[in-house]
Amino acid sequence: MIPVTKKRLIILYIYGMSSKNTPETTPLVSAMLGGKCPNCRTGSLFPAPLYSYRKLSDVHHKCPACNVVLTPEPDFYYGAMYISYAFSVALVITGMVAINILVGRQELWVYGVVIVVANALLTPFMLRYSKVLYLYGVGKLSYDANWRQKLQKK
Ligand SMILES: [Zn+2]
Repeated sequence: MIPVTKKRLIILYIYGMSSKNTPETTPLVSAMLGGKCPNCRTGSLFPAPLYSYRKLSDVHHKCPACNVVLTPEPDFYYGAMYISYAFSVALVITGMVAINILVGRQELWVYGVVIVVANALLTPFMLRYSKVLYLYGVGKLSYDANWRQKLQKK
């Protein structure tokens, strides 16, 4: 029998984690980037596409794939405002630095126009990803590999 060392256990653990990534299990980062439900990583959080300007503030109440509740309480996503605000501040700073590096110091209106346009273009991403981050961070939902079986039992 092979002795179980600490090192071997770590290798087994890492191998086990990677072998769980069967084609039907979406990795965490792809699920977040795709705006998927934290419980099944399959159903979409939003009724509209991530880049769409339609239904900007809408989130599915229940996941269309696994039926888990995505709005744990009314006004749950108010907290996502802070993340969205941080995105906007980061955009302003990035925009100003980018202008200075790419085209040198400009007049004030140039900064204003670039930042307003960038903000308008990126609004759907910032609003939706702030909600994704908020739900994954605060939402008390984690990935359940057996979500399909649980759904069939109901
Ligand atoms: Zn789901």
